[in-house]
Amino acid sequence: MSIPAPPTPIHLLDLPAQHAPLRAELEAAVQACFEEAAFVQGPAVAAFARELARYLGGPHVVPCANGTDALQLALMSLRLPAGAEVIVPAFTYVATLEAAAVLGLRPVPADVLPGTFNLDPRAVAAALTPRTRAIVAVHLFGQCADLWALRQLADQHGVALIEDNAQALGATFRTAGGETWVAGTVGEVGTTSFFPSKNLGGFGDGGALFTRDAERAAYLRQLANHGQSRKYHHEHVGLNSRLDTLQAALLRVKLPHLPAWTAARQHVAARYDELLGELPGLHVPARDPRSTHVFHQYTLTLADAPGHRAAVQEFLRVRGVPSAVYYPLPNHLQPAYAHLGYRPGQFPVAEQLCRTVLSLPVHPTLAEEQIRYVAAVVKAAVGESALDLMPKQTTA
Ligand SMILES: *Cc1c(COP(=O)(O)O)cnc(C)c1O
Repeated sequence: MSIPAPPTPIHLLDLPAQHAPLRAELEAAVQACFEEAAFVQGPAVAAFARELARYLGGPHVVPCANGTDALQLALMSLRLPAGAEVIVPAFTYVATLEAAAVLGLRPVPADVLPGTFNLDPRAVAAALTPRTRAIVAVHLFGQCADLWALRQLADQHGVALIEDNAQALGATFRTAGGETWVAGTVGEVGTTSFFPSKNLGGFGDGGALFTRDAERAAYLRQLANHGQSRKYHHEHVGLNSRLDTLQAALLRVKLPHLPAWTAARQHVAARYDELLGELPGLHVPARDPRSTHVFHQYTLTLADAPGHRAAVQEFLRVRGVPSAVYYPLPNHLQPAYAHLGYRPGQFPVAEQLCRTVLSLPVHPTLAEEQIRYVAAVVKAAVGESALDLMPKQTTA
């Protein structure tokens, strides 16, 4: 297999390229904040919340300081007793568990599906106990978890559904009845993050909560602002978790471009699918036909053999193709969660994914020749190391 000449440098994430055409507008937004000097709770925060609500089809939007706080606030709004169990995916970013753990709740991992990487509803059903009070669904890498099954399970068992939508802002899910659900607005509370690398990234930390319940929205707004109903009147123990005015002003400039950026990510993903196809020892990301996929990550699964992924990654790296592993170590085996008492082998799908996933660049400013180059190098890497995986031939 011949690899074409490397095109212009390829980045895993290219925020400078994304921001370049918006530079004048972004600078004007910062300038306006300087002049208004309302750096906390300035008018841009409410304006951004309104515009994001419109984009998502009308939930209440409560901005906050980051996506991890958003999860914590979502759980706080459920008023759960200490030790209540919260089911989380066994394969997710640590924040999903952390938010439960810092509140004295017990995160209970449930295994995921090997194709979509999202919660396996059967594993969730098996993890439910009389102490379960919430299920946190993560729409990992940009595709909705099985919202239909999870919403039903939550309703049948009288537990809350929280959606960690840090990676799938703008994704939708088609129900059995043909309705379109918007990710983050199906659970009692949905959360998102504006961490710079997310599909809608700020220039620092940021986050938001979504809910269709006006009373819960008001409660969340108080919780995120020291539990106060009005200044110096504290009805609840809250947090200081507000979205900076500067971040809101900058996010307002970026939000109108999110649909085009999502379409560009989907185009890159479709090209990778076409160019890579299915090879022995390589699976392109599976799609749930009910969900759109906004490709926060384009994540391959490779053969599960010692040293194989590292060899593929190194083959790519020396040829100028960056890649990343989200996530290399399952949360239930992290030192911080040792007290939960899990052992290797308890969540086999998540554990295998931690050994076999590899994410490729999928940002919206990748050019066609870069996409072709990445695909060619990946095919060569997998082909080459597939040979190493074969049993050695012995000559008779
Ligand atoms: C990024 C992320 C978070 C945390 O968001 P921060 O804004 O970084 O706190 C939570 N869950 C998932 C799935 C994420 O990807």
